[in-house]
Amino acid sequence: MISSVLPTYNRAPLSFVKGEGSWLIEADGRRFLDLGAGIAVNTLGHANPDLAQTLKDQADTLWHVSNLYKIPAQEKLADMLVDLTFADTCFFTNSGTEAAELAIKMARKYWYTKGQPDKIEIITFDGCFHGRSTGAIAASGAEKMVKGFGPLMPGFVHLPFGDHDALMAAVSDKTAAIMIEPIQGEGGIRVVPDQCLKGLRDLCDEKGILLIFDEVQCGVARTGKLFAHEYAAVTPDIMMIAKGIGGGFPLGAVLATEEAASGMTAGTHGSTYGGNPLGCAIGAKVLEIVSDPAFLAEVNRKASLMRQKLEGLVAAHPDVFESVRGQGLMLGLKCKVAPGDLVAKGYEAGILTVPAADNVVRLLPALNISDDDISDAVARIDAAAKAL
Ligand SMILES: *Cc1c(COP(=O)(O)O)cnc(C)c1O
Repeated sequence: MISSVLPTYNRAPLSFVKGEGSWLIEADGRRFLDLGAGIAVNTLGHANPDLAQTLKDQADTLWHVSNLYKIPAQEKLADMLVDLTFADTCFFTNSGTEAAELAIKMARKYWYTKGQPDKIEIITFDGCFHGRSTGAIAASGAEKMVKGFGPLMPGFVHLPFGDHDALMAAVSDKTAAIMIEPIQGEGGIRVVPDQCLKGLRDLCDEKGILLIFDEVQCGVARTGKLFAHEYAAVTPDIMMIAKGIGGGFPLGAVLATEEAASGMTAGTHGSTYGGNPLGCAIGAKVLEIVSDPAFLAEVNRKASLMRQKLEGLVAAHPDVFESVRGQGLMLGLKCKVAPGDLVAKGYEAGILTVPAADNVVRLLPALNISDDDISDAVARIDAAAKAL
C-alpha cells in the first residue's frame, strides 16, 4: 500500500525532532552533525536565534498580503539585493524552480518584446539542475528527470560541460540565453572556471545573448563571496537565487538588469505567496547577516580550515577519495567508492552529508559552523571512510 507521503524519495531511516546550530537531534537524543544543511538551505544553522526572533516579530505583525498591494518588507529585501548586486530589479518566488521558470519566461519575453520572437532557444549544460517543474526538467534534459513525463517544453539546447567548440557550434540567431550554474550543485560540485564564465559573458555580449546564472545553490555567501560569479568578476543579465536566502524559510528570487527585465510588464507574471512579508522579513535578516564583510571573511577562514583538513582525509584514504573540490563552504569529496555508501556509513558515524552526481559527496555546512564542529565533522567522515 502506498505511503501517505508520495514515495518520490528514498528516505534514510532518520528523523529529527530538533535542531541546534550545526546539529540535528533524533527523538532518542542521538545527535548528528549536519553537513547538508537542508541542501545548502540552513545558512545560519538550525534554530538560529536572530532568525527565530525575526520570524516571531513578523508573525505577530503581518504574515501575508497579496501582491495586489505594496509590501514594504518585500521592497526592503529587493532594495538590499539591488544594492548588493548587478541587479536593478527582483521578483520573489517560493523556490528555486519557480525562479528558473521566471528566468526562462523573462529571457524569451525580452526577445519577443524586441521584435525577435524566434529567439527562444536556451543553452544549458550537462549535469545542470534547475528544478523539477516541466520547464526546469526540459532545461536539464537528464534522462532520469524527464523520462515518462511526456513531451517536453521545446527550445532547450543541451551541451556537454566545458566543451567550447560545441558551444560555438550551438549558438545561432535563435539563441535567447545561456543558463548556467557557476558551480554545479546536484551535478557534483563542478566549478566553472573563472575564465569560462568570462568567456561566456564575452560571447553573450558579442552575439546579443542573455546570460542567466543559476545561483540557487552556490549563492548567498555559500562560496565565501555573496555570489559565486563575483570570483570571475563578471555579471549575468538574470540570476536565480533560493535555498540559502531564506535560511530555511521557502524563498527564492529572480534578479535582473532593467534591460533584461524590460519585457516583464504588469500582468505578465505573478505569484500568490512569492514575496510575502514573512518570507521577505526573514530573507532580509539572512542577507543582512551574510553580506557583512566580516561574516564573509569568517566563511573563507572556515572554508580554508575545512579544506585543509579534507585534503588530509583524502591523503589518508587514497582508496576511498580522489580529491576535494568546490569553493568556500560548497565542497565536494570526489569518491572512488559509491557516494551513497559513504553517506550511509556517515549516518552510523553521526554525520549527515549529501550525495551528488559525478561520484561526489557534498559538504554544505551552515556558514556559521564552529571550528570545533569542522574538526568533529572531518573526524566523523574519517570514521565513516574507515568503516567502508
Ligand atoms: C535546488 C536547486 C534548484 C531548485 O530549487 P527548489 O527550491 O528545489 O525548487 C534550482 N537550481 C539549482 C542550482 C538548485 O540547486
